[in-house]
Amino acid sequence: MKDYYDILGVSRDASDADIKKAFRQLALKYHPDRNPDNKGSEEKFKEINEAYSCLSDSEKKSNYDRFGTAEGVGAGYSPFGGAGGFGDIFEDIFGDFFGTFTGRRGPRPAKGDDLRYDINITLMEAAFGAEKIIEVPRWENCSECKGTGAEPGKGPVTCSNCKGTGQVRFQQGFFSVAKTCGKCHGAGRIITDPCKACKGHGKIKQYRNISVKVPAGVDADSRLRISGEGELGIYGGPPGDLYIILDVEEHPFFQREGMNLYCKVPVSFPQAALGSEIEIPTIDGSTKLKIPAGTPSGKTFNIKGKGMPKVGSHQRGDQVVIVNIEVPKHITPRQKELLEEFSKINGDEVSKGFREKLKDIFAGTK
Ligand SMILES: [Zn+2]
Ligand SMILES: [Zn+2]
Repeated sequence: MKDYYDILGVSRDASDADIKKAFRQLALKYHPDRNPDNKGSEEKFKEINEAYSCLSDSEKKSNYDRFGTAEGVGAGYSPFGGAGGFGDIFEDIFGDFFGTFTGRRGPRPAKGDDLRYDINITLMEAAFGAEKIIEVPRWENCSECKGTGAEPGKGPVTCSNCKGTGQVRFQQGFFSVAKTCGKCHGAGRIITDPCKACKGHGKIKQYRNISVKVPAGVDADSRLRISGEGELGIYGGPPGDLYIILDVEEHPFFQREGMNLYCKVPVSFPQAALGSEIEIPTIDGSTKLKIPAGTPSGKTFNIKGKGMPKVGSHQRGDQVVIVNIEVPKHITPRQKELLEEFSKINGDEVSKGFREKLKDIFAGTK
């Protein structure tokens, strides 16, 4: 004998509300519309219906509790019998709930697909923001046939197979199951004379100009979402979204690392040795930077707040200046004369210091 309490996963003293709740959860889980072509679910679904139609009826329940069958001693129990039958229980518990996925109300509205569009911007546009006009194609309703796909005045006609619902119901066991109509493929309508402008698709690819506001501070691979500018929805559903994927072009002078901007600035040997003030380009225009006397090549200087901004904030990174001491490729005879004099006075100061250092390094290995 089947244990109806066990089937619904409730105890013998469960209240009517608990039984109803347990049934509702199980029925949702095993409903054939949610488990198409699953024999195991179908059996389970029948079983929980049988259990519930007994335990939800006070007379059947008391018979079952006393004699182990819903009909009492000697009577054969049929899960389909009884007042109203299974359909009523179902309507009672779920109301119109299953209507949303059994197709009783025709095709379901669906959100349109999202679209992607790639934009290249310059570093300056990334730094200060920009407004870009882009041309984005999307499928829109054909204006000739108003999206029906049929030649004006010639349909479409309601599908005779599903009577316009897009789905056909058939009996499977004791419950009915809905399937997409094979004749109209769920559209509920059939086009006999396709529209010439859109070849019966009902849609035409159309380019629209969309203005995109690129916020200051964006980086490569930043994504902007423009809500509602994707493909149109289906059966009255909302349109999808448009995603703008940004790529930032390389800059000839600035290299970006997060919010900081790096740049290499050439400095002459005398400028570095004597100290000087040099002009540095920044993304806001040029500024002056003091190079102290004795600055070695490769030394970095931070210029606060001249880097990239943070999106949606007034915060900015730094500009990092890397000093690069340049050796002139061509010198005039006069420059040569002076350098030779400098070299004579300086002696081999640089190489002497270097030799000393090497001595220390190799001291232990000798
Ligand atoms: Zn058309
Ligand atoms: Zn149909």
